[in-house]
Amino acid sequence: MRLLHGRPLAERLNARSRERSDALRARDIHPTLAAISVGIDPAGNTYLQRLVRGGRAIGIAVRDISLSRDTTEPALIAELDRANRDPKIHGVLLLTPLPGKLDDGHLVDHIAADKDVEGVNPFNVGLLLDGRPRFVPSTAEAIVELLKFHEIPLGGVDVVVVGRSTVVGRPAAALLLNEDATVTIAHKRTSDVPALTRRAAIVVVAVGRARFLTGNMISPGATVIDAGINVTPAGVAGDVDTDSVASIAGALSPVPGGVGTVTTALLLRNVLAAADAQTAGS
Ligand code: NAP
Repeated sequence: MRLLHGRPLAERLNARSRERSDALRARDIHPTLAAISVGIDPAGNTYLQRLVRGGRAIGIAVRDISLSRDTTEPALIAELDRANRDPKIHGVLLLTPLPGKLDDGHLVDHIAADKDVEGVNPFNVGLLLDGRPRFVPSTAEAIVELLKFHEIPLGGVDVVVVGRSTVVGRPAAALLLNEDATVTIAHKRTSDVPALTRRAAIVVVAVGRARFLTGNMISPGATVIDAGINVTPAGVAGDVDTDSVASIAGALSPVPGGVGTVTTALLLRNVLAAADAQTAGS
């Protein structure tokens, strides 16, 4: 079985991003991402720290805007508006989950579409569904980029995506459809998930349950993409039961070292695309 490693793809993406960010700085443009969070300890947030480190290596500043836990919705919207209007900020992201009564499902409407580097604003979701993606959630994009990087054919291929969240399952399915795959989405109400996954040439798993997909749920030679990141007493585990899947699958993305390795590189690439678009002609 072939392992679909993410690191070589992430390195290639980051090398291109470094060149792109050098070109921006040569025009006195300093690509900057505002990471807005509510009620978290920024130093203890591994996602944020990974972004800061990754950004530094490429030449993207990550401005950490940490708000207190008791921040009200109007105050958070005002902060998003401030970042939207600031010409020195090119990308805006809102770290989730949000505490208390703050509803990210509706607050993402307040991230300016041209700075929405996580692709969560409904305008960008619409562009993706319309087959002309601009900013796409980076985990979903990582799934498809990993398949393409490893030259797994997608056109006309039967793909089952297990999971339909806004950040992973749905956008991954839309991207795969844009690549002419024949896509089925499974979720908790799907009557027989194994019957579907056993018919697929490619299975994408994004359910958030450690070792959910087992070897008896796939066909021999299938390609399996594991988007899961589950913290278990034994360490980080994906949504795939590697022990039983490894002897049946033709290819598998490892956890860690697969999808997750690519996501930061893609998000940072979006910041550079946003900076390019906002400063074109200046
Ligand atoms: P989520 O919002 O909890 O969504 C989970 C999805 O899985 C839901 O659509 C749910 O169905 C479905 N599901 C759960 N149990 C199922 C079952 N028994 N049978 C069929 N479908 C089932 O999770 P998420 O945010 O999409 O994350 C999914 C996984 O990806 C997690 O492990 C998460 O840690 C990981 N993740 C990874 C990255 C990365 O960078 N690699 C980024 C984000 C998330 P319903 O809709 O019917 O409830």
